[in-house]
Amino acid sequence: MKKTILLALSSIVLIACNNPKSTNKTVERENPILQEWDTPFGLPPFDKIQSEDYLPAYKIALAEHQADIDAIINNTEAPTFKNTIEGIEFAGKNLTKISSLLSCVEAANTDSILKATKKELAPITSAHYDNIMLNEDLFAKVKAVYDQKETLNLTPIESYLLEEKYKDFTKSGINLGAEDKEKLKEINGKLAELTLQYGNNLLDETNSFEYHTTDSTDLGNLPTSLKALAKEEATKRGHESGWSFTVQRPSINPFLQSSPNRKARKILYDAYAQRANNDNDKDNKKIIKEIVSLRIDKAKLLGFKNHASRVLQNNMAEKPENVLAFMDKMWPFALAKAKEEKAAMNKIFQADGNEGDIQGHDWRYYVEKVRKERYNFDEEETRPYFEVSAVTKGVFELANKLFGMTFVKRTDLPIWHPEQEVFEVNNRDGSHCGIMYLDFFARDSKRGGAWMNSIRKQSNVDGMIHPVVTTNYNYPAPTENSPSLLSYREAETLFHEFGHAIHGLLSNVKYRSLSGTAVPRDFVEFPSQVMENWMGEPEVLQLFAKHYKTGEVIPEALIKKLKDANSFNGGFGTVEYMAAAYLDMYWHTLEAPTEMGVNEFEAKKLTELGLIDVIQPRYRSTYFSHIFSGGYSAGYYSYQWSEVLDADCFNAFKETGNLFDPAVAKRYQEMMSKGGSEKGMKLYTDFRGQEPDIKWLLEKKGFIE
Ligand SMILES: [Zn+2]
Repeated sequence: MKKTILLALSSIVLIACNNPKSTNKTVERENPILQEWDTPFGLPPFDKIQSEDYLPAYKIALAEHQADIDAIINNTEAPTFKNTIEGIEFAGKNLTKISSLLSCVEAANTDSILKATKKELAPITSAHYDNIMLNEDLFAKVKAVYDQKETLNLTPIESYLLEEKYKDFTKSGINLGAEDKEKLKEINGKLAELTLQYGNNLLDETNSFEYHTTDSTDLGNLPTSLKALAKEEATKRGHESGWSFTVQRPSINPFLQSSPNRKARKILYDAYAQRANNDNDKDNKKIIKEIVSLRIDKAKLLGFKNHASRVLQNNMAEKPENVLAFMDKMWPFALAKAKEEKAAMNKIFQADGNEGDIQGHDWRYYVEKVRKERYNFDEEETRPYFEVSAVTKGVFELANKLFGMTFVKRTDLPIWHPEQEVFEVNNRDGSHCGIMYLDFFARDSKRGGAWMNSIRKQSNVDGMIHPVVTTNYNYPAPTENSPSLLSYREAETLFHEFGHAIHGLLSNVKYRSLSGTAVPRDFVEFPSQVMENWMGEPEVLQLFAKHYKTGEVIPEALIKKLKDANSFNGGFGTVEYMAAAYLDMYWHTLEAPTEMGVNEFEAKKLTELGLIDVIQPRYRSTYFSHIFSGGYSAGYYSYQWSEVLDADCFNAFKETGNLFDPAVAKRYQEMMSKGGSEKGMKLYTDFRGQEPDIKWLLEKKGFIE
């Protein structure tokens, strides 16, 4: 096997030498990504890696992977579980390593080189995997092992790996005729390019917009720390004075909540809602139609009636009908609640001297007003209690109480950006558990939102490979005068991403492809969302929610007000989210491309749903990157599906009268340790003793008493 790898390597070097730009680099400097990572915990040597290193390293790793696969195909021995199934699992060690690394860095700290790298690699990678997954000789070997599975005496996890590998092939179209296989390859290649283009358009549109003002009354009661940030933004964009706001969430949301200037609110609100929908070269409408149409073609080729049916076959939900039936159960409760909230806000809106009905760009402003008037609650009052490092300590303490984990800050480990923090994580018995990176602040090189991913996944074949995880956020950066102070929601996001990180860190599975967060889409948000439940409990808040100046613990009365006030806007939040989840299902249950334009289709479907026009879907089609450039197509419903699980799971703790009940925590840890090595519903029922009940979610949201 070694020989083939060397051959592959030398052919790549030749290719590099033909390229005049890279000749010097190839000669002068060895690529640090490909050298042994001689670092503590085998972490990537971020301090040595440059953006231009990824492309050549990745190409070499692809060739190595191909060589490993070729060796399996060309092996003259009879196919066995070891030489075929494990062979595929272990093939391309460098590719596994590099592709995880590249996805992490490209999402959190991109530049023009990394963007170009990703763009160049997207179609190559897709073709590479198609070549493997559509290779009939390889599939024949897998099938030979699969067909004798009853007589092989496999352990449960080996059987599960065999099932999964077999499915990987059949769902990629291995049973297609030669012509259809070519068609599928072509579709996959086009989709890879289009989805990337969609994401780039959105990033450019998001970064290019600014609202600049020199009128301080526009700022309303915007907190000082955010005013300072807006001032910095203005300076950065070349203004001599004033404040600049962008359509990035940490900038636009506080502005919409605080600014009394209706016109300004409308400008920002509309700009946000119109992203990549502007009839210019960053317009995503045409791309959406192409993606939807190609996804239908692909589903049909593979024997499904639509994209959603194809995607959902491996989920807990199994088919689109189940998803829609589940959402249809929730929707009337949520919509009724949102209408109640609108009526309450209309009164205040009109009492404020406005005519007509409250509009989308007014909603957040008047939510804050209603909260203040009805609950005497100002979200900004809580910010000083959620200083980012205090919240981080809070999640660490929670993990310690539940699972005995400890976190030691390290300043000697390589990082990809100076703002990144890194912690060594240990188990209850003091043994090493893994490494966790945290990257908190918004910047242009980072994509929006918050997410967790794995730099290295856990596995345990010839000894334990410990996980390395990263969580990423877009929090307001500290300024000269103030640390980074989070809103309640932003703090909750930290608990959320930390829940994903725990899922990765607690993993204890033999095979990498089944470890950690490698679970169905509608299970994966459960371990993250369940963590948010703890944060909402007064006894947990008291552990960490301390005033950043005085150290005073958040007053109980403020917690009570916050909870009452938060449940007030629950209808809006659920409707906003569900409208997007429905939109996802509407696009992906189409059985033929629609004649309608993107905006027309969206408007028609949402009107039929009964969405009130003061609420926009959380994502409209042109900036719904989860489903058109991320991996969440026909899967955005999953957050709510997982919410059913998390509400039910948290109730398991509450029923004992102890939020940290050791026996329940132990069963939870056991469930997390299994990663994706068993079916989601089985993992859950093993933990709970029964299937989850939807009533805990309806009750939690205040939709039923
Ligand atoms: Zn999540």
